[in-house]
Amino acid sequence: MILRKLKLSGFKSFVEPATLHIEPGLTGVVGPNGCGKSNLLEAIRWVMGENSPKSMRSGGMEDVIFAGTESRPPRDFAEVVLQGEDDADEELEVVRRIERGAGSAYRINGNDVRAKDVALTFADAATGAHSPALVSQGKIAQVIAARPTERRQMLEEAAGIAGLHVRRRDAENKLRQTEANLSRLEDLMAGLD
Ligand code: ATP
Repeated sequence: MILRKLKLSGFKSFVEPATLHIEPGLTGVVGPNGCGKSNLLEAIRWVMGENSPKSMRSGGMEDVIFAGTESRPPRDFAEVVLQGEDDADEELEVVRRIERGAGSAYRINGNDVRAKDVALTFADAATGAHSPALVSQGKIAQVIAARPTERRQMLEEAAGIAGLHVRRRDAENKLRQTEANLSRLEDLMAGLD
């Protein structure tokens, strides 16, 4: 997967629509303290389906919406658009939008989708909200100090098998549901005898 463009509107400190062109190769973001470097990385994680407010440095997910300043009123929504190409070189556009009181909505190439579809799209391409390709401040030290299980998780994500875990969990849930239905059916049939 190749990421080409990130567009933000009302996301954290990016109150006005802003577009970031992601050039090929390694991208580093530099700037003075508090200018929004980490917010940019968090925007990428967020549009990829990040659901933990803590990893967005927020108390609740709506905290990613521009909260206002002395001179500017708060916004009612935040939207992040990520454009690029998928592994088949097809154009890919993922949009996540959050409105106060209404939660998050996702679109892939213009179609409404579920959060899980977005997570799977990125997991299958060996990237995503927890991808080792997104290196935030302090991450290098964290990798060095990581426990073996955490390192394995990083390697699995890099190898592109994280999506399989999501699918396995999904399949296990379906299996449990089917087993519950089956035993209910057996009870009902026993009642008919
Ligand atoms: P540093 O180098 O110090 O880590 P940084 O460049 O990574 O800084 P960020 O942490 O990305 O900066 O941005 C912090 C700024 O974003 C702060 O000024 C904070 O007030 C602002 N900010 C965060 N959330 C919101 C929000 N919901 N609404 C408005 N501003 C916000």
